[in-house]
Amino acid sequence: MTRVHVIGAGISGLSCAVRLAREGRSVTLHEAAGQAGGRCRSYFDAKLDRSIDNGNHMLLSANVAALSYLEEIGARHTLRAPQEAAYGFVDLRSGARWTLRPNAGPLPWWILVPGRRVPGTRPGAYLAGLRLAFAKPNQTVAEVLDPADPLWERFWKPLTVAALNTAPEEAAARLLWPVLRETFGRGAAACRPLIARDGLAASFIDPALALLREAGAEVRFNRRLRAIAFAGDRAAQLDFGTDGVALGPDARVVIAVPPNVAAALLPGLAAPQDSRPIVNGHIRLAQAPPLAPGMTAERPFLGLVGGAAQWLFLRGDVVSLTVSAAAELSTRPSEEIAARFWADTVRALDLDLDPNLDPAERPTIRIVKERQATFAQTPAALGARAPARTRWANLALAGDWTDTGFPATIESAVRSGRAAAQVVTEDCR
Ligand SMILES: Cc1cc2nc3c(=O)[nH]c(=O)nc-3n(C[C@H](O)[C@H](O)[C@H](O)COP(=O)(O)OP(=O)(O)OC[C@H]3O[C@@H](n4cnc5c(N)ncnc54)[C@H](O)[C@@H]3O)c2cc1C
Repeated sequence: MTRVHVIGAGISGLSCAVRLAREGRSVTLHEAAGQAGGRCRSYFDAKLDRSIDNGNHMLLSANVAALSYLEEIGARHTLRAPQEAAYGFVDLRSGARWTLRPNAGPLPWWILVPGRRVPGTRPGAYLAGLRLAFAKPNQTVAEVLDPADPLWERFWKPLTVAALNTAPEEAAARLLWPVLRETFGRGAAACRPLIARDGLAASFIDPALALLREAGAEVRFNRRLRAIAFAGDRAAQLDFGTDGVALGPDARVVIAVPPNVAAALLPGLAAPQDSRPIVNGHIRLAQAPPLAPGMTAERPFLGLVGGAAQWLFLRGDVVSLTVSAAAELSTRPSEEIAARFWADTVRALDLDLDPNLDPAERPTIRIVKERQATFAQTPAALGARAPARTRWANLALAGDWTDTGFPATIESAVRSGRAAAQVVTEDCR
């Protein structure tokens, strides 16, 4: 019987392993770390005395593959699912607050209604987004849209940075188009924000591991693939340092690791080279604060403009702030970032506290810098995204960076895992 070795227990490896295990295949999942989840993980932080996520993750109701993965592992109900597609924002400089509310149906009449769009913006500035559909492969978002328009700072820039984790001055315009098409282009039903109620592991990871174990799959942690020996057009042996796995004629391999690791393991593989960081800060308050204007129990987050952080999420007494495309911020000392995040928190949540408290008086803050959060989603990098099928007959590729046509997100990771599973299934017919 075919044994499939899946390397990497991030979302791409898990979604691949789940698919194959449910088809009745024998699966071994090998993970270098001591836990699964990769860039989408939860852990207990002793300093905060709370379980936290490495970073805030949001899905949109348009993320059909991610949602069907959650269905598959029986965890769809673990997401907060507001009925309304609405995003509260606050400008931390002026204190202005607004809520972006796309309407139902694909005709975007919401941009005509001042109370639904960003204050001070014109409907035409939203329609300019259609230009992305005709962007040339080498164009960036800033070359296609107008950075001088008032909508830039409050909509196009935050959208680009959130979706592509790349500054709009270097982000590929062609990759922002599928985001717009699949979300705002389909109306409110595709724009609902979805977040894990009890953390990333409880939604995306633990149920998948439980399903795999139930299906008889082997899950092995602290097992880093060091090298692959090839013979002709096949992978012949997996080298884990302490031991090797000889691959018989029926064995298959799926490599579901970040692009730099895949490129080191697979000779001649073209993969995106550069990455961009995301910085998160987690602040444990003395008690759960009240929801600020623009937040609801099912939407306990705010978009921030004019401060250091871009998004703020609330879970109980823990406030978590995010900065994507954080090339500059990630080089700053954690203490400086903590001070800036604290000031943003006080203003965004309208707390009756001093935004400039001394470190010793501030609540506990943990700064997490994910230096290789995603690949840099530039025009040049798009050409280096590799397909699931490789030149080796028994080896397929997965990972959010592979050629899914979507930005490097959970959606892309699931699509890639399933594409790799499909390659294995087709080859085993
Ligand atoms: C802070 C942050 C915020 C994010 N926010 C969002 C968001 O809001 N929405 C969204 O959709 N996406 C978001 N993302 C992106 C999302 O987390 C990733 O796209 C997704 O988790 C990538 O999954 P993956 O399986 O492709 O890669 P990874 O998660 O990197 O998984 C690869 C796995 O392979 C393992 N590995 C590496 N080398 C080896 C080896 N040699 N042998 C064995 N195992 C190995 C790694 O330990 C890891 O577990 C965010 C990412 C970060 C970091």
